[in-house]
Amino acid sequence: MRINEKQLDLVDKQIKRILASGNYYSEVYKKAGITGVSSPEEFEKIPFTDKADLRNAYPLGIQAVPDEEVVRIHSSSGTTGKPVIIPYTAKDVDDWSTMFARCYEIAGITSKDRIQITPGYGLWTAGIGFQAGCEKLGAMAIPMGPGNTEKQLQMMIDLESTVICATSSYALLLAEEINKRHLKDKIKLKKGVIGSERWSEAKRKYIANELGIELYDIYGLTEIYGPGIGINCPDQTGMHVFDDYLYIEIIDPVTGEVLPDGEEGEIVITTLVKEGAPLIRFRTHDLSKIIPGECSCGRHYPRLDTIMGRSDDMFKVHGVNMFPSQVEEILGLVDGVSSEYKIDIAHDESKNRDIIMVTAEAEGRVDFAVTAEEIKRLFKSKLNVTPKVSIVSINTLPRSEKKTKRVFDHREE
Ligand code: ZN
Repeated sequence: MRINEKQLDLVDKQIKRILASGNYYSEVYKKAGITGVSSPEEFEKIPFTDKADLRNAYPLGIQAVPDEEVVRIHSSSGTTGKPVIIPYTAKDVDDWSTMFARCYEIAGITSKDRIQITPGYGLWTAGIGFQAGCEKLGAMAIPMGPGNTEKQLQMMIDLESTVICATSSYALLLAEEINKRHLKDKIKLKKGVIGSERWSEAKRKYIANELGIELYDIYGLTEIYGPGIGINCPDQTGMHVFDDYLYIEIIDPVTGEVLPDGEEGEIVITTLVKEGAPLIRFRTHDLSKIIPGECSCGRHYPRLDTIMGRSDDMFKVHGVNMFPSQVEEILGLVDGVSSEYKIDIAHDESKNRDIIMVTAEAEGRVDFAVTAEEIKRLFKSKLNVTPKVSIVSINTLPRSEKKTKRVFDHREE
């Protein structure tokens, strides 16, 4: 889906505003000789930007408006180094809540609903985004924040919450508690809005069944407003993203080449009307694809497929890009194997070729040697590489809430 006239015009205005502001990107664009944009070809020549740029501009180097127009900041923490600070104007905050209210509406949530919000409030964009969208919609917000399961359940029952907003991990924990305490008959939940990250079908089914609810994946990141820039519709064919506020591209994470709709790659987002911190061609490092064609629901917003992992976990062996989702698909075909894995890639100098080592977990009831052979065979037939495979017991590999690093490339060491 190529950038249209209207979007191009908005990007042109953003670039001119950036140049006039004298912010971090004004210097980048001046050096690159960029003064505006008038065609899709020109747009595709604008350099990408990355979280590293935002760190370089710490704390407020990307601010593109005078101080008196900034009403709030948010921050995304990095695993290393400085955090990233994003300034918002009153219009940015309002635009974000408009998009978020739209997400709730697409999920069939109305002003009659009671929305229990469990993501955290504070510097990051989670809780406050869910809350602002809820108020914009006119529904009742129950601003719990995370933790305190006892109180969560009490409020859920006494206030008859109809919607739960949570990470998939916390939704799972609540579902398990409700099951354990036999509270299912006492809760009135109908829908769950879950922050989009890669999560397994098994987890999704458990939460949906245990709580008796429909689940919706909501997409977003702090650098681009926050959660609430896209959500899947009841037809469950991908997440609609609001193209009146954002333009999305999918690129090859290695070459930077823009990929056609339907091909998997890294999501790149351009803000079209953001004032406080406009970002043009921001690399999210999230892997997905644009689903071609129109959705059966009749909405025209373009659709992103479920997030398939992080581009940091994409790897290239013998010139072929391999995605974490492909590895997970293979492991999903093998009996008794968990979805956790670790991949090490090294270079064998003596044979001048790359070696790929897969560590996977299997249940004690299966034969580890047979399982290893099966995984080897599937890699060969599906990805055309033959890895060395080592099988370990379940719960041996590290687990974290999200963004677990699973691929270790030792070739450049
Ligand atoms: Zn739809």
